[in-house]
Amino acid sequence: MSAQTQATVGKATESACWCCGRATSEDALIRLGNHPEVGICVNCVHFLGRRARDYQATVMRQRLRGTAESIRAQVMARGWHDHPTFGPALRWINRHLPW
Ligand SMILES: [Zn+2]
Repeated sequence: MSAQTQATVGKATESACWCCGRATSEDALIRLGNHPEVGICVNCVHFLGRRARDYQATVMRQRLRGTAESIRAQVMARGWHDHPTFGPALRWINRHLPW
């Protein structure tokens, strides 16, 4: 078998990652369930996993921010922030909340 033939055989078992485009061996590609023609390399799978976790964290932060805004609106509507006993504590919490 010549060197050119071996190179051809080697290329036959490699495919390009659909995410980064890097040539990857067929065994190292992860195929999508409903689209088996799409193969993604392990590095890109980890990258996509990080992106998914970042997205979920953003969604969770938005929910927490929405809940905090709702509670803040209820406190303001009832005038609890001006209450002489616990008003200062509520205003302190409002200043130190991260959202
Ligand atoms: Zn990739």
